[in-house]
Amino acid sequence: MLTDDELRLEVKRFIGDAWDPDLTLAEWWDRLAESGWAVPTWPTEWLGRGLPGAAARAVGEELRAGGVPGPPAGLGLLLAGPTILAHGTDEHKARYLRPIVNGQEAWCQLFSEPGAGSDLASLQTKAVRDGDEWIVNGQKVWTSGAQTADFGMLLARTDPDAPKHKGISYFAFSMDQPGVEVRPLKEMTGRSLFCEVFFTDARVAHSECINGLGGGWIAANTTLAAERAGLGAGGAGASGGGFPGKKNGMLEERVGALMEGARASAAQASRAERGAVAMRRVAKDLGRNDEPVLRQHLAQSYILDEIGRMMSIRTKQLRSAGRPLEGDGNLAKLQMSRVLRHGRDLGPELIGPWSMIMGEETPGEGNFQEATLWAPGPSIYGGSDEIQKNIVGERVLGLPKEPGPDKNTPFKDLAVGTQKG
Ligand SMILES: Cc1cc2nc3c(=O)[nH]c(=O)nc-3n(C[C@H](O)[C@H](O)[C@H](O)COP(=O)(O)OP(=O)(O)OC[C@H]3O[C@@H](n4cnc5c(N)ncnc54)[C@H](O)[C@@H]3O)c2cc1C
Repeated sequence: MLTDDELRLEVKRFIGDAWDPDLTLAEWWDRLAESGWAVPTWPTEWLGRGLPGAAARAVGEELRAGGVPGPPAGLGLLLAGPTILAHGTDEHKARYLRPIVNGQEAWCQLFSEPGAGSDLASLQTKAVRDGDEWIVNGQKVWTSGAQTADFGMLLARTDPDAPKHKGISYFAFSMDQPGVEVRPLKEMTGRSLFCEVFFTDARVAHSECINGLGGGWIAANTTLAAERAGLGAGGAGASGGGFPGKKNGMLEERVGALMEGARASAAQASRAERGAVAMRRVAKDLGRNDEPVLRQHLAQSYILDEIGRMMSIRTKQLRSAGRPLEGDGNLAKLQMSRVLRHGRDLGPELIGPWSMIMGEETPGEGNFQEATLWAPGPSIYGGSDEIQKNIVGERVLGLPKEPGPDKNTPFKDLAVGTQKG
């Protein structure tokens, strides 16, 4: 087992040997994948180095310090990879893992539906067997990155006679086929990060079922656990390496130019002083930093930031010591929602009528308006705040579970929810 210093030295050596600013992003990600430093916590036979989470964080720090792109961002590496590693066959691993790690293929998460979000097991998208294939019909919603994804982690109901958690299967599903229609949704920020996805007689081979027929709920829970760990604890390793998949258009860009662009925007972001620091500066600029009520709210935002920072230090230290705190990811996500909600209210209070318009010429350079419009998202995705609290209550504190009278009833006979519609 390498010491922390030895590990960091090895990563530095790899960067020294492998880095060339003239490489394309695709070529760089190939080298990173081959080295095992892209996914150091994965097993050695599947492009990793079998290292613990703490070591992966050190690798991430070294890649960032070396000024090189980290592994591909996005849901392939964050969610699909860990799920396939845990539940896929060797054939699945051989087919899907390398293009995830070297960024050749992008993934999206086809879980939520109009009537199935928090209560995901109520999903109605159905798959019907047709020889060696399944025919898929239904609709997903809030699918982040579906516009550019090559594959989706599809949850579909394959057995309506089974109780709702048991009749679900998990497929590695090709997005590039005639039966798939992707419609981007416009958010109030003006961007389109997520989409509606409609399936009309779309097809997926039976061999692409992950964790066996009816084993979708267990595999989905692995995906959701990876999502919570990534969102709450900031994930492991370096991110921000760029977006994978040919449709994202970054694979042929030169890594030297990409990193220069990344450095320029990091410098710009630090000049723009996001969050609580920016609010204190703008309060001064507007001559409002003597107003007692506003000062209290600014102090509150400083306190919330500090609590978040200390929680993150505690999480890292306990994990490094091999004593992770149960529910730390859920708590970190709840804290993030709290910080964002506070900023959502304080920004407009601070800049007053300016908050009605967007743009860099407004106090705070437009960041407060942007933060206010984005604030609801993180308290919903990856499990809403209420769901995080339910998880902490039931799984960490051991409180009684929510009543679930429908657990043993065949899905087709359920009288609750929207599945009857
Ligand atoms: C920015 C963003 C990106 C997303 N990306 C994806 C994606 O890529 N793929 C994907 O599949 N989904 C994605 N989602 C969807 C997300 O997972 C769902 O929105 C979320 O699970 C909530 O489901 P819902 O919207 O159906 O709300 P509902 O489940 O209908 O919840 C409505 C309200 O009721 C509360 N509630 C529900 N059940 C309970 C309960 N048991 N106890 C207490 N309160 C409860 C909720 O907290 C919420 O306040 C994304 C969402 C957002 C906002």
